[in-house]
Amino acid sequence: MNKKIIYVDHAATTYVKPEVFDEMRPYFTEYYGNPSSIYSLGRESKKAIEKARAQIAFYLGAHSTEIYFTGSGTEADNWAIKGAAYANRKKGKHLITTVIEHHAVLEAFEFLRKEGFEVTYLPVDENGIVDPNELAKAIRPDTTLVSIMYANNEIGTVQPIKELAAIAKEKGVLFHTDAVQAVGNIDINVKDLDVDFLSMSAHKFYGPKGVGALYIKKGTRVDSILHGGAQEKNRRPGTENVPGIVGMAAAIKLAYDNIEQNIKHLQNLSDRLIDKVMDKIPYVRLNGDREQRLPGNVNLSFEFIEGESLLLMLDMKGVQASSGSACTSGSLDPSHVLLAIGLSHEIAHGSLRISFGTENTEEDVDYIVDNLEEIVSKLRAMSPLYEDYVRKDGK
Ligand SMILES: *Cc1c(COP(=O)(O)O)cnc(C)c1O
Repeated sequence: MNKKIIYVDHAATTYVKPEVFDEMRPYFTEYYGNPSSIYSLGRESKKAIEKARAQIAFYLGAHSTEIYFTGSGTEADNWAIKGAAYANRKKGKHLITTVIEHHAVLEAFEFLRKEGFEVTYLPVDENGIVDPNELAKAIRPDTTLVSIMYANNEIGTVQPIKELAAIAKEKGVLFHTDAVQAVGNIDINVKDLDVDFLSMSAHKFYGPKGVGALYIKKGTRVDSILHGGAQEKNRRPGTENVPGIVGMAAAIKLAYDNIEQNIKHLQNLSDRLIDKVMDKIPYVRLNGDREQRLPGNVNLSFEFIEGESLLLMLDMKGVQASSGSACTSGSLDPSHVLLAIGLSHEIAHGSLRISFGTENTEEDVDYIVDNLEEIVSKLRAMSPLYEDYVRKDGK
């Protein structure tokens, strides 16, 4: 690839920052011992894991014994949800989540439903926010777990997690939050939030792919979902991904040591994009809450446009963005999140998600807006629906 690339899909994944990779490298080539081995090479690996655990715990306000490494954010979600549901199944089999969760959460609940659990899906308002009163109403005597995502991966909406967790706690119900989009992007303190479980994934904050972690509050009952060796205090077997874990800790440090500048930078890029698009392109809407959202997330719906065409034409200009419309790339069903906030199928289909990262610049934004303006008018010129609409509109 030698053409200009503007990567604005950081909600899908990020590159590994060079400083992070530098810290990881020795654990591939030099300190490769199995952390369970008692000789010095093994002990070096073990030491690196425990240092990483303490560092991650520090930045999240947790105790290091409460951080457990997993193979992904997906695994952390599955562990918290299935593990808590099974550990508490004698108390009750009712679980609560929301309609806008990531598939890692939705599918875990779908599995449990088939296993005989009952699941209530909370709705969201037109901005994608969960109403705490709806949660309070949904909790029953046989409810054992509530799982609500911290920040949405599509529309960037940030939920009032502290308030929601307090409602669950008051009724003696465990609370899990999928914070995969939030960790490294916004300030998080698990003690202040008072949640029981919190999932994260390194590749969403400039760490490597294939490593995640689950915060499990001390004393919380949760079954294991994998069975094997004694790693992670007998709770999550499998030889640890030592370089990955080291990278995750380096990435979280980098993210939180610079969190204020990062938020300001991303917010500026998002505001610039939103303002310019609204100014230059007609028939566009911003999806998700304008205030309660991830600093780098912009999700737009362009009326009379097919999102896939928009993406492909942006790609030809080097812009790597994501369709806001497809649940999974390649699928034609509109996103469950966009439908949940009340968009029609047609409008949901014309959606675009731009998620900025620290390396993006104002020039990137201007380049994207210029190209969007051109592509959108080209696509609309070919749309019979648009022609009809404009004619009726008297233009
Ligand atoms: C990316 C993501 C996941 C899955 O994490 P992986 O490490 O890719 O498995 C889960 N939840 C949310 C909100 C995500 O954005």
